[in-house]
Amino acid sequence: MLILRFAVFTPLKRSFDYLAPNLSTQENLSLKIGTRFLLPFGHQKCIGVLLSIATSTQINIKKLKTPLACLDELPILNANLLKLANWMSSYYHAPIGYVLWLMLPPPLRIFSASSTKNSIPQTRSYKISALGREMLPQIAANAKNRLAFAQLFKKDQNPESFVDKEFEKETFEKELFNKELFEHELSALSFKVRPQLKYFLEQNWITTQTQNPTVLPKYYYALKPNPLLTNAQQDVVNAVINQADEFKVSLLEGVTGSGKTEVYLELAKHFLNKGQQVLILVPEIGLTPQFLARIQNQLQINVLGIHSQLSNLARFEAWLKATLNQIHLVIGTRTALFTPMPNLGMIIIDEEHDASYRSRDGVRYSARDAAIVYAKHLNIPILLGSATPALDSLQNSLNGRYQALFLKQRVLGTMPKWQIIDCILHPQVNGLTEVLIEAIKARLDKNEQVILFLNRRGFAPVLFCQNCKWMADCPACDAHLTLHYNRLSCHHCAYSAPKPEFCPNCQKDSLIALGYGTQRIENALQDIFPDEKIVRIDRDTISKKQDLENALDLINSLQTRIILGTQMIAKGHDFAEVTLVAVIDTDNLLFSHDFRGEEQLAQLLTQVSGRGGRAQKPAQVLIQTYHPEHAIFQDLPKIGYHEYALSLLEKRALFKLPPFSYQAQIFADSKVLERANKFLQNGLDEFEQQYDKLAALLKISPPLSCYMSRRKGYFRAYILVQSHDRNILNISLANLDQILGSLKKQDLRFHIEVDPPESA
Ligand SMILES: [Zn+2]
Ligand SMILES: [Zn+2]
Repeated sequence: MLILRFAVFTPLKRSFDYLAPNLSTQENLSLKIGTRFLLPFGHQKCIGVLLSIATSTQINIKKLKTPLACLDELPILNANLLKLANWMSSYYHAPIGYVLWLMLPPPLRIFSASSTKNSIPQTRSYKISALGREMLPQIAANAKNRLAFAQLFKKDQNPESFVDKEFEKETFEKELFNKELFEHELSALSFKVRPQLKYFLEQNWITTQTQNPTVLPKYYYALKPNPLLTNAQQDVVNAVINQADEFKVSLLEGVTGSGKTEVYLELAKHFLNKGQQVLILVPEIGLTPQFLARIQNQLQINVLGIHSQLSNLARFEAWLKATLNQIHLVIGTRTALFTPMPNLGMIIIDEEHDASYRSRDGVRYSARDAAIVYAKHLNIPILLGSATPALDSLQNSLNGRYQALFLKQRVLGTMPKWQIIDCILHPQVNGLTEVLIEAIKARLDKNEQVILFLNRRGFAPVLFCQNCKWMADCPACDAHLTLHYNRLSCHHCAYSAPKPEFCPNCQKDSLIALGYGTQRIENALQDIFPDEKIVRIDRDTISKKQDLENALDLINSLQTRIILGTQMIAKGHDFAEVTLVAVIDTDNLLFSHDFRGEEQLAQLLTQVSGRGGRAQKPAQVLIQTYHPEHAIFQDLPKIGYHEYALSLLEKRALFKLPPFSYQAQIFADSKVLERANKFLQNGLDEFEQQYDKLAALLKISPPLSCYMSRRKGYFRAYILVQSHDRNILNISLANLDQILGSLKKQDLRFHIEVDPPESA
């Protein structure tokens, strides 16, 4: 008797046992871990992924059901990805079914009559038949036939030169016989050859057979080194490739404009030349067609881009190509990590500090951290790159767990000079000081570009009544509504309403917009520079990848000289002609309730300022603030990000905050705040009773209200759990998870956030 253990897409944090169908021994052997089955589940049918095969179960055998059908010939998830899924499930306390579904391309997640087509397809291949060989002299007498044969079976892409030569039976036999043409290769051939193929098949000169999909053998490239690499870049490349081919994390800290991408590509070449696959993860906003084209152009090989806006079918096809080793370099955002790559030799993570590697709903995981664990499982090297490494990565490179690598100089141009503008001495009109306006004028006079950064979209963050002090608040959240021209919108839920003309409270005509968003700054700039075309880049103007591409085209072709945007412009893009970067306002980030606030602000300011002076022309950074005395404005421009980050690490060490301890938040949401608090308190009491020794090793907060307690109509309470030891934290969370899961939950849901990216 065999028990089949499945993962099913449910919030239940366990696997499900089924009885193996009565198969012959040989068929039993063909049960493959990682294949999908159609399962009876309650009164419904669902898809399950086979996790393991056991010989015993804790469930009464008579109650076990039998799977209805196996949907895949071959595993759709290989052993390494299943291992990663198990790690993610236990480390992030997420249901294994949710993790596996995250890994699968959407067409594989559902069952419909047609969805069986979406398993790894069988491959058809073509060969010259015995009859074809026999008839060769007659067939090859015709030049057209000769060319078609060469096109189909000679794979060096230069069939004409082969055919032009005098027909030699021996060469022909040697070059073409025993060669196989696969269905997927057909698409790369000219359309004209297809009728020929059909004709040859009809004549029985060519035979065809279908077979299980083949993972193509390793493909070795002969990519040449880039002669333009600087010595510093070459040193970094050597430091990585001179290591043994085993698990090793390297942290490359390279200032903006130091050419990290060139280093990534050189490393990629090294592993591609060895017949291995390479995965490069980039932040969501960085994966533009321009970027892909640039890489494709430099390497002259097929590059696969995987991002969230790919259609389901395209994502499935991409997934399939990588699985079958038809594509060797994959560049993608967060979920590209889960692309099955049988010959993966190296992982590179660009802008490793970027928040987009963290998933904020569903399975709450860090793709960066999961990638490191994955590389460890595969025993391959992994490189993290950033101009502003996250403090935890930096700490790991300081204590020697990561190899520390640096690029301290720009390839072209110099680092920009910073100037802090005191807004008390220089009053703002519509968010802009006179100093800033003059600086913009000076740059425009020289036909150079300027970037203005403001991390707040909309027209104004607050609509305020001067008479009765009423403010427009969201009815469902503890938040002010943001004014967008004539509408009020909540940035935390979907609530939106027209802007009232009179104060809804006192009915007076005394409403004013307080503060500035990007729309308001755009209007102000347009008034001052009426002839300039201003490009605004924020989530209101950029909703599709195409919008961003259009904006980047306008900028790169110099059709616009004033670029205004939120942190969407702070990341990765190179603008050669930008010589002035202005930060309009970041004061709201100075006194954050989050201990990570200063780290994030230092990263943001360094990244934004790094957009300037990328080419030969020196650039200037202007920062407007009401707090010029703040340490970040005093020190960061002088000592740079690295030194500043070290000073932040000292503070973290002093207060035993991460990365010097490990944290998790447990959230409870309810329509009634008291209910959420009580739920968490009950769970805590139970935990401290059952696991008193474990609890004594932890720091656990009582249930607390979140900074923004109510959102989308739900109140949110949380507890903070902290430990000096990752394992103790993990075991405690598993126990807490189990206890909370067993408590009665009326109008209540809870979730766990491990290594939280922000304070609650
Ligand atoms: Zn009023
Ligand atoms: Zn809201």
